[in-house]
Amino acid sequence: AKRAGRNQLSYYAPVMNAKLKATLQMETDLRKAINDHELFLVYQPIFNVRHQAMVGVEALVRWRKPDGSMVFPDEFIPVAEQTGLIVPLGDYVLEQACKQLQQWHKKGLDLSMSVNVSPAQLRDSNFISLLQNCLKHYSLNPLKIQLELTEQIFIENSEELVSSLDTIANMGVHLAIDDFGTGYSSLSYLQKLSVDVLKIDKSFMDAVLSDTESAMLVKAMIAMAHSLNLAVVAEGVESQEQQDFLATEGCERGQGYFYGRPVEPEQLAPYFSDYLAT
Ligand code: C2E
Ligand code: CA
Ligand code: CA
Ligand code: CA
Repeated sequence: AKRAGRNQLSYYAPVMNAKLKATLQMETDLRKAINDHELFLVYQPIFNVRHQAMVGVEALVRWRKPDGSMVFPDEFIPVAEQTGLIVPLGDYVLEQACKQLQQWHKKGLDLSMSVNVSPAQLRDSNFISLLQNCLKHYSLNPLKIQLELTEQIFIENSEELVSSLDTIANMGVHLAIDDFGTGYSSLSYLQKLSVDVLKIDKSFMDAVLSDTESAMLVKAMIAMAHSLNLAVVAEGVESQEQQDFLATEGCERGQGYFYGRPVEPEQLAPYFSDYLAT
């Protein structure tokens, strides 16, 4: 009977396991990548819309394999989240971003740093002390750090989460809602939690010039954010016309290829000539 079972398994296994195998391989490779420092950060400028000058950057993780090929986060972040590897990966990202920010501050560039944080990282009991250690070790003003969280995290609405976010906010670190409007979550969390910034998702910006409903939505999101005392960052700004729209609507900050693509630190130098200290 045992043998029959095994035969049956091997009959179905190739089809069933193709995806699982790919995930397991990715997990093995990613674990190695974290240990061997194949991961590095690129930084995308965030601009003040009115003055059209850089005020900060968002750290985005990249993976260059030993053979030189690149893997983008949309491929490996989901695997990292499924396997728990997001915790060591995210710790590495936070630490590297803080280290880089200290270097810029030493040069007199008073930029803000945005870092993406996954739900599993926030749930990790060591996260707050890691954040505190980073701020201390790199002598950073907490007001210059912004953690980006997606609305996914507010669906669970747990006590622990609320208290973690309060602790972080009390440290002076800013919290931003990433990809706002895509998470299908209730808006009540905006009142309950110490959020400072709302990032309007690129999908709304894509159609803002061609579709009146998208334009109305973006206007409404900006107005709502302002009435709740939140600053707004529009993502995916690719054209002068989108930038002008945002300026008219009083959106404070913009991010997108119009201002600049994510680049390695040395390539940000051209933006430093007229950056805007805030
Ligand atoms: P996100 O946080 O929404 O980051 C913005 C993404 O949009 C980045 O893709 C960026 O390169 C891209 N982007 C920015 N401006 C434009 C534009 O004008 N046009 C277009 N077409 N794209 C633009 P990227 O770097 O591939 O990151 C994808 C996602 O991966 C991020 O979305 C974020 O959710 C996740 N991610 C990246 N780095 C990290 C990280 O260190 N930790 C965690 N947890 N997630 C990360
Ligand atoms: Ca983000
Ligand atoms: Ca985003
Ligand atoms: Ca996104």
